Amino acid sequence: LIELRGVNKYYGELHVLQDIDLTVARGEVVVVIGPSGSGKSTLCRVVNRLETIQSGTIRVDGRPLPEEGKALAGLRAEVGMVFQSFNLFAHKTVLQNVSLAQMKVRGRKREEADHRSRELLDRVGLSSQAAKLPAQLSGGQQQRVAIARALAMDPKVLLFDEPTSALDPEMINEVLEVMRRLARDGMTMVVVSHEMGFARSAANRVVFMSEGRVVEDRTPEDFFTRPESERARDFLSKIL
Ligand code: ATP
Ligand code: MG
Repeated sequence: LIELRGVNKYYGELHVLQDIDLTVARGEVVVVIGPSGSGKSTLCRVVNRLETIQSGTIRVDGRPLPEEGKALAGLRAEVGMVFQSFNLFAHKTVLQNVSLAQMKVRGRKREEADHRSRELLDRVGLSSQAAKLPAQLSGGQQQRVAIARALAMDPKVLLFDEPTSALDPEMINEVLEVMRRLARDGMTMVVVSHEMGFARSAANRVVFMSEGRVVEDRTPEDFFTRPESERARDFLSKIL
């Protein structure tokens, strides 16, 4: 579903993505881990074309990424993204937050969009919060709204960039539980996260990045019990 071949990206002199080859099949859950600055967020951002690349190819569902315009908005709907900061509209209700892009990008009428939003809010356990403003919700609830909003676009894949790292510990699990359920339901997901419990239980593969390279790309079982590289061993010894 996602295919990166020989992808290179620079910020000026800094070579942030170096010859990245990566494929994510339909229904697969890939957890990306690695030290700060290793290029994990940049990897997500180039797949969504929030950033351009200097060489290589990226395909989503067999098609190269569009350059601009309508096709690009379409790509961003198909490749949903959930960020560490939830990026909700502060002055819109929860329901409006989930409905707006459906009307704008998917061309749905308000009733249709609201109906779908209510289904999704129910799915993330927030059906009773639809009329509230984001500030009236906990961080974990806000992140679940952001997930519902991404799902409302009927994405082919969801990218999560450290979705729980801004949350208080007691809220992390409610978000991970929603993500686990999505994974079980067959959603294709790329998840940047240092939640090792989630990686072990939900991931098909763990991708370990260091200094802009994919250093390991293996099953969680293999990665956690027999990391091959010194860098991964070093990283794991610091976080486990
Ligand atoms: P973290 O775990 O801290 O989130 P990361 O693995 O997500 O790190 P990236 O955010 O992808 O890392 O950053 C990779 C490198 O690119 C870092 O050295 C960072 O400073 C640099 N970088 C990121 N965004 C930009 C930018 N817009 N302009 C210049 N350099 C950038
Ligand atoms: Mg990051």
